[in-house]
Order: sequence, then structure tokens, then C-alpha cells
Amino acid sequence: MSWERYLKDNNIRITSGRIAILNILKSSNKGLSAENIYDLCKKQYENLNLSTIYRTLELFEEKEIIKKINIDGPALYVLKKEGHKHLLKCDLCNKSVEIQCPMEEIEEIIKAQAGFSLTEHKLELKGVCEECKDKKNSRN
Ligand SMILES: [Zn+2]
Ligand SMILES: [Zn+2]
Repeated sequence: MSWERYLKDNNIRITSGRIAILNILKSSNKGLSAENIYDLCKKQYENLNLSTIYRTLELFEEKEIIKKINIDGPALYVLKKEGHKHLLKCDLCNKSVEIQCPMEEIEEIIKAQAGFSLTEHKLELKGVCEECKDKKNSRN
């Protein structure tokens, strides 16, 4: 799908700057800060000012097109991926729920801090569901 179409579907006005930012994020294999995007934009596309970039990133974040990752230093932005889910199972009643994989952000943190790209992860999540927790608390 083209970016034009994508922006239209998300009710975002199409501007060349917005498309440039999406292209930059798409072609990067790691999270980018607003400053990074600013520099790349200047080199490859057009001269956008930093506040336009911040506003655009905010808009994209609101529309859930990108994800903001807060790490030490400037926040990084990545395009949202399809994502997969993990299963959480209650220790007490065995009820299970699916949650969105929480590793996406951690992957970016690892990339930024250690330069490693994760190829695989396994998560074992254990917990107690809300109902069981309430029951437990009311007994005490
Ligand atoms: Zn339970
Ligand atoms: Zn996962």
C-alpha cells in the first residue's frame, strides 16, 4: 500500500514531509530520534524544521502508526509492526489471556544500548488474574 493511501485511510492530510518521515522510518532498521529524522530528511528529502518533525511524530503516535520508545537520552521512534501475542496463564484458576508482545520496546532498548538485534525471544509469564487476586485479598 502506498503512503498516500495509508495516510488517507488514517485521515491524515498528505504532505511531502509526512511521507518523507514515513520513508525514513521504514528504511531504518533501528529506532530513530527526532534529531536523526531531521538530519536524514535534510540529506535525502527536504528541509523540515524540527518542530514540524516533532508535531508529525506526535500525530503519527496518536494515530498509532508509530511507537515512541523512551530510553536514556532522546526518545526513539519506530514504525509499528504487526506484532504477535503471548499467553498469560493464571496460577490459581488456569484462566489464560493473550497480551500484545511487550518485547518490541525492549528490542529497541537492546539495539540502542548493546547494538544487538534480537532474532528470537521466549517469554514465560506467570501471574494471578484479577479475580483470583481479589478473592485472595478478601480472604485476608
Ligand atoms: Zn485466576
Ligand atoms: Zn513476543
